[in-house]
Formats: sequence, structure tokens, C-alpha cells
Amino acid sequence: MGDSLKKQTDEMKGWLIEIRRTIHMHPELGFEEVETSKLVMEWLEKFGLQVKKGVATTGVIGLLQGKKPGKTVAIRADMDALPIDEVRPVPYASKIKGKMHACGHDAHVAMLLGVARFFSSIPDQVKGNIKWIFQPAEEGGGGGRVMVEEGALENPKVDAIFATHVFPLLSAGKVGVYEREGLAATDRFTVKIIGKGGHGAFPHLSKDPILAAGHFITQIHSIVSRDINPQDSAVITIGKISGGTAFNIIPDEVELVGTVRSLTTQVQGELKKRIEEVARGVAQSFGMDYRYDFEYGYPMLINDPEMSKLVARACSRGIGKENVVVVKPAMGGEDFSYYLEKVPGAFFRLGNRNEAKGTIYPYHSSLFDVDEDILPLGVEMFVRIIDEYLELGLVD
Ligand SMILES: [Zn+2]
Ligand SMILES: [Zn+2]
Repeated sequence: MGDSLKKQTDEMKGWLIEIRRTIHMHPELGFEEVETSKLVMEWLEKFGLQVKKGVATTGVIGLLQGKKPGKTVAIRADMDALPIDEVRPVPYASKIKGKMHACGHDAHVAMLLGVARFFSSIPDQVKGNIKWIFQPAEEGGGGGRVMVEEGALENPKVDAIFATHVFPLLSAGKVGVYEREGLAATDRFTVKIIGKGGHGAFPHLSKDPILAAGHFITQIHSIVSRDINPQDSAVITIGKISGGTAFNIIPDEVELVGTVRSLTTQVQGELKKRIEEVARGVAQSFGMDYRYDFEYGYPMLINDPEMSKLVARACSRGIGKENVVVVKPAMGGEDFSYYLEKVPGAFFRLGNRNEAKGTIYPYHSSLFDVDEDILPLGVEMFVRIIDEYLELGLVD
């Protein structure tokens, strides 16, 4: 059925593009995906699936119960867009000012609907259950965490879960798989250096927190290079500094906010501890006080190695071994990690880079776009993965 699978997914192409463009033209931000959620629900109902709506506000879950008992496999798509003005002059550009699907989540939704269409046409051949999870708010809102908390992985209990993300660093037609570590924990720290304000011309009568902040910045950048094992990965970036009101006033305090990325809890703990030690040491050396706050973000995204192998095996059958590559972990984050904390599964990348079509811009760029030829391919990859996991023997 390998050839006919390809034929079937190719035949869906026009329909997949239409869905993707409809969503693309009407982007909605996290937890506000009302229209997108309605579109998803209507299709799932049309396909005869059991549908649960309003999970995590706008999330939708579809379920296909096979005729014969078996395992339960889930696939997940995110539905939210970003607060960006689309710049690319395409006929399907965003119709909503200040909002744009600049991360390809519109494509993720379309592909999952394609998989639903495929399996709903052959319900009698499904053994076990297939669950479709459409979640809100991947972009910082942690919709995945809320979906898990609200039982997305229960009733029936999910045995394995898979998700993909389009990937502008990999050529269209290829699939990338993380062997184990995929993406980083995305934590945030806030350091406040508390000095004593005064006149800029009389620094000896104040305690200048701006000077202390300068030392702090220089010093925390030695943490990754000197305290962390070079074999491990870590990032510290200060993205925001606030302090001061005028050129001739020494302010009372300076606040620095940054992101901390790690791929293991050991490195994460080390970074958390060392940043505070540096803040304390710098403040102390200037006779100042400090406040430190560390806020945990998305957890590390860790694939189950067996499930990664399954993805590689299943996709290789469709596009050949040479088109399935191992991708190195990256320091971005993904809230699919919340699902992977609970059940084994794998997150994989669907190549989206096409120089001729100009789908070469990074995520969250106002020029980002998806090569729509990969939509049927994504459907095919999911069908193959589900077929392999549930041992349906539909495709070869
Ligand atoms: Zn994104
Ligand atoms: Zn994304």
C-alpha cells in the first residue's frame, strides 16, 4: 500500500493547502484560537471521530477507536500564531494586522487533519486507538502543560505520542530526528542589583548599581565557559536591562532579566545556583544588596530513543534512508516536552527549506513561510509512524 498511500496523500494536497491557507489568513494568538479550533472540530466531526472541545480553553481532541483492541497512539499539533506583522507578499498573507503564523503551526494543524481524513476512511483497519491532540498556546503560553493537566493523555490512556515541527534549516523532502535530547529547558532569571541613588557628579555619595550591573554581565558569561563541562550544552542570555532615568542621575537599582537554556537537569541546577552566586558576589563586592528570582519554563524535550528509532524506520520506508537525518539538539524550547515527560514518544522535524520558493527564513521572521509541497509528505510520515506503532501493516 506504500504507493497508494503516497497517491492518497498527494490527492489531498489541494485540500491541505486550502486548510493551511485558511488558518494562515486568520491567525490567532495563544488561548484565543477560537476560529481555528472551530475549523478543526468541524472537520473531525465530519470524519466521524469522537470530539472533545474546550480542553485548555481552545484545545480539541479527536479519537478514533479501532474495531480491534490495541495500543493508543497520539499525535499533536499546536494552533497558535504570533504577534508579528507579515511582510511576505503572498495571496494568502495574514488578514489580521499584527498577527501571523510565523512558526508553521498552520501547517501542523493541516497535516494532522490530513491524517484524520486518511484513517477515518479506513476505520475497520485500525487496531487500537488513534488520538489527535490540537493544543493552544505553544508560543510561551504552555498550552501543552494545560492539555496534559486537563487529561489529554487519559481516556483512553495514551501509550505513545508523536509530533513534528516544520524546519527551515532542513531541505524540504527530508525528515530530521533527535536521538534523545531534542530541545532545551527554557528558564528565566531576574537579578536586581540594589545600590543607592544620587547625583552623577558625586558618585562617592552613592552606590552605583549600573557599574555593578556591568561587572555582573561580564562575570556571568564566564559561567558557561568555566563552570559547565564543555561536553554539555548551556546558554545564558541577558535580554533586558532596566535602570536609570537621566544622564546625570545614579539610580537606586538595576534589573536584569535573562534566559537560561540547558539540556540536562544537572546543568540546569548548576546554572541556577551559579548565577545567584555571581549576583551575590558582585553585589557584596560593591557593598550592595541583590534579589534573585529563577522561574522554570518549558522542561527539556527528551525523545524516547526507541520511539526516535521507530520514527526514523517508518519515515525511511517512505522517503528513503538518505532523507532521514539525525539532527543535533538545539537550545530552543517546545512545550511538547510536557507530553514526553508523561509518555514515551518522539518529536521530529519536517524539512521546509526550499531556496526556489523562498522558504528559507527562520522561525518568527516576518518573512517565514511553508513550502506547501511538504503538507502531503507530513501526512504520509504520520500515517507511517502510526502504522508502525500500532502494527497495522497498512503500508510497506
Ligand atoms: Zn515558534
Ligand atoms: Zn513553533
